[in-house]
Amino acid sequence: MDFSDYEKIVEKTDLNCSVNGDKLAYALVGMVGEIGEFAEKIKRIYRKDHKLDSNYKHLLALELGDVLWYLTKAAKELGCSLEDVAKLNLEKLEKRLKDKKLRGNGDLR
Ligand SMILES: [Mg+2]
Repeated sequence: MDFSDYEKIVEKTDLNCSVNGDKLAYALVGMVGEIGEFAEKIKRIYRKDHKLDSNYKHLLALELGDVLWYLTKAAKELGCSLEDVAKLNLEKLEKRLKDKKLRGNGDLR
């Protein structure tokens, strides 16, 4: 599956919700909520409620999928595709690697 195939499925499963008409805000709130669900499951490993076995890794992967769904929505609201986002990220990281600035602070280093 490539990014555009995934985006088509997101589109089909989108209920077109918003926060007071703001779809980007809805995507943000949804993404943060799903990251919270992922964090909660990680916490349960440290609390010894769960082991990081293959079944639990599957549940964690499902939560990451939920994050990806909302990330896709957020990108769309910004007029970007997932491929755009991935390319921008790779360009940024490759520049930092070339400039030996992988460590440090600041978005535009
Ligand atoms: Mg979830």
